[in-house]
Amino acid sequence: MVFRVQSSTMQKLLFIMVLAVISGCGTNSTTEKLVVYTSRQPQLIEPLFEQYTKETGIEIVHLSGDAQQLLERIKTEGEDTAADLFITVDAGVLWQAAERGVLESVTSKTLQSNIPAYLRDPDNQWFGLSKRLRTIVINNAAMQEAPKSYAELATNDWNSRLCLRTSQKVYNQSLIASFIANFGEQETLKVLNGWINNLATKVFSSDTLALKAVQAGQCDATIVNSYYLGRLVASGEAENLNLIWANQDSTGVHVNISGGGVVKYSKQKTEAIKLLEWLTSTWAQEQYANLNLEYPVVEGTVLHPVLESWGEFKEDNLNAKILGALQKEAVLLAREANYN
Ligand code: FE
Repeated sequence: MVFRVQSSTMQKLLFIMVLAVISGCGTNSTTEKLVVYTSRQPQLIEPLFEQYTKETGIEIVHLSGDAQQLLERIKTEGEDTAADLFITVDAGVLWQAAERGVLESVTSKTLQSNIPAYLRDPDNQWFGLSKRLRTIVINNAAMQEAPKSYAELATNDWNSRLCLRTSQKVYNQSLIASFIANFGEQETLKVLNGWINNLATKVFSSDTLALKAVQAGQCDATIVNSYYLGRLVASGEAENLNLIWANQDSTGVHVNISGGGVVKYSKQKTEAIKLLEWLTSTWAQEQYANLNLEYPVVEGTVLHPVLESWGEFKEDNLNAKILGALQKEAVLLAREANYN
């Protein structure tokens, strides 16, 4: 079952509908339904929920919408919230959810052993469920001089050859936050200034548009989440495009996550934790990651053939919490560099 957030009147109406569905649970102590508020695209998460229902008999009602609106809603609903779990994308959003006090710190040996420490909150309020790698993609024509790092794209060699997505997207804010954590503000500002100097076009509103510009030869390189390239590869439309794992000689490629946490005022926390745990099971991890060509968080999970073809690489093991904590600084530095 799915509801989407639209206008505010619609929101109220939908919320009443959700409540009506929940109250159908009655006072029976056995959980029959769990409610998930999620900004993950419905088609990427519904197959998982359906399988969970098949296995456990527990129905999952999900309210889909924009992450900020959902966070706001959980906050406003307070103790009356219907939400048991909040599932979203980007470390910055998960960090914000924890900062705003809407998540519960949970103890789960399964989650702790299945998910590497750098992909979950040190306070156990949220847990990474898939990895999203932001790296460099270049045009065939540039293969001879393939850049090795994000910083290299800021050098004179790349003048008028770079395409970027807007810094207003949280993905880039998290990437910049990782630079600040790894290299400090001054170095980061230097890189951002260099990038802006090297732009061949205006910044784009999406990773896919940036990829298409590289493909069309408007520029030679860009920085995107690898699953956007993965989609093009999977549909046979990735001609001229090559993935480069960035910073393999230094920090490793930037890792972001999608993930979730148990809502503080959930009345079914034990069951909510079970669903989170199930999302780290072998079957769920394969599906969860494969549906969007992301990488599983659980080691040893079989990779989608497209990801397999990209080989092994070194990851930046910065804790995802740092990406959230430095987001504000990241936004300010981007502004200082005139990176719109
Ligand atoms: Fe995305």
